[in-house]
Amino acid sequence: MPRPLFITLLVATPIAVFASTRNGWLAALSLALIIAANPIVRTIRKNRYFGSEQFRTLKGEVAAVVAEHNDVVNYVMEIRAGGSFELGSSSTGQHAHLASFTNTSAWNYRRDRNVAEYAAHVHNASLQVVRSASADPIKYLMKYFAVKADQDTLANVQRVADDISRLEGAVTNVEGRKEDITAKINPPAFVLKYYYDEFWRQVGGKLSPVQVPYPRYKFQYVSAGGNSGQTANIVLNTPTLEALSATLVEKIRWAKSVTGQRALMTTKLRRDIKTRDRYACVQCGISVAAEPHLLLEVDHIIPVSKGGPSLPENLQTLCWRCNRSKGAKIA
Ligand SMILES: [Zn+2]
Repeated sequence: MPRPLFITLLVATPIAVFASTRNGWLAALSLALIIAANPIVRTIRKNRYFGSEQFRTLKGEVAAVVAEHNDVVNYVMEIRAGGSFELGSSSTGQHAHLASFTNTSAWNYRRDRNVAEYAAHVHNASLQVVRSASADPIKYLMKYFAVKADQDTLANVQRVADDISRLEGAVTNVEGRKEDITAKINPPAFVLKYYYDEFWRQVGGKLSPVQVPYPRYKFQYVSAGGNSGQTANIVLNTPTLEALSATLVEKIRWAKSVTGQRALMTTKLRRDIKTRDRYACVQCGISVAAEPHLLLEVDHIIPVSKGGPSLPENLQTLCWRCNRSKGAKIA
């Protein structure tokens, strides 16, 4: 028996039977809903959809868009693999792995509820320090994670901030492309709900597993008996990194340093450069007006690593393709 006929019979027969009884339509409606939600029926509907002429036609129409999407997904993974997402560390527990810890307390009053965690991003401190850190995160981050107010550190912070901003831009761009492709094909809701991954496999689109790896720092207090604990968490996202850069510049400026007096790369400066360049790549001329999902990046003409400052005259807007090939040439 052909599938469509089978499904029609499967759904129609019980409905017809129920419809002839009292309160029939209500029962028929609920039965129809139950059948539609049945996993076996759902699988049949799904296979029918992916096999349909309509789906295959739309898939063909978006093929070029999907190919470009996959290119940008690869680009995201390149940024993730080549970027720097690390900064500072705490030395508490630096040698903790050399000892083993056993709770020998006779009063075993669930004292293992709060156990100090020893890791480079965790600083074990007094309750006072933990509380102060949550009130003044930048100051305490610098003090306890050895973030020094010097030029090398500032360059480091700016590099991390730049890589995070680039990755954020690329990840957001991929999300936009995904929504665009989904809207163009417009599959039934149940396909997106139950067969999301399969939908992307069928379309031929790569799903990016990359999330922005914001460096996270933690101040942790654990009482001597392990009965209580408190933590203060600091996430080095773009606003935190900008605040940290600004603080470092203030301190370096105070020390009359040349680097400290340089303008800093900020979200606002990036936006200003893109506006100045009319949201178009200065190299190949492609613009957001021509390609709505165009990924644009702000590039240092003379790279920061070669002493190029973050000043408007050393900054330019490049599309991701041009920036990628420039990066490849420099490397
Ligand atoms: Zn370009």
